[in-house]
Amino acid sequence: MKIGVLALQGAFREHIRMLQALGAEAVEIRLPAELDEADGLVIPGGESTTMRKLMADFGLVGPLREFAASGKPLFGTCAGLIVMADRVGGRRQELLNLIDIDVERNAYGRQIDSREADIFGEALGPEPFHAVFIRAPQILGIGPGVEPLAHYRGQVVLARQKNILVATFHPELTDDSRIHGLFLRMLGRRAR
Ligand code: GLN
Repeated sequence: MKIGVLALQGAFREHIRMLQALGAEAVEIRLPAELDEADGLVIPGGESTTMRKLMADFGLVGPLREFAASGKPLFGTCAGLIVMADRVGGRRQELLNLIDIDVERNAYGRQIDSREADIFGEALGPEPFHAVFIRAPQILGIGPGVEPLAHYRGQVVLARQKNILVATFHPELTDDSRIHGLFLRMLGRRAR
């Protein structure tokens, strides 16, 4: 199983490191043709406006939509979640539209650029997950097909819709690999 990590911009190296630590093969993806060899894809955190522009410049929007439509798992963190969301600030964005959520960018305010907090969720087991939020978005609403997997202050911060997994925080910046493990299990289930 080979996992691609979109490497246009942002924290892609950290995702590769964590996936490799879990024994998975992880490769950088920049070109549409490189998507063909991947069984799953991570879209990392970074800056969603830059990523959005680069995705269009590299001709990746259509191929990424097809990749998701084929049923292969995708995992978006922070800016990766934003570019995968159907709505931003209540308005539909014309982009990947992979998951039925409404997000608000930089939702914790400018004064507190980043924060670390324990989050909880059944999908993670009994132990809290120490989440790193960096200029993080908030999920304002989820559609009926979206399964909330973890919460912080009553808000959904980790969610899944079929083959799409999203987190508002940066699980690749900790040494807790449970969420990447969850993603690898989504790939494993598909392979069986
Ligand atoms: N604030 C960024 C954005 O809106 C996301 C930050 C991140 O990915 N850590 O794109």
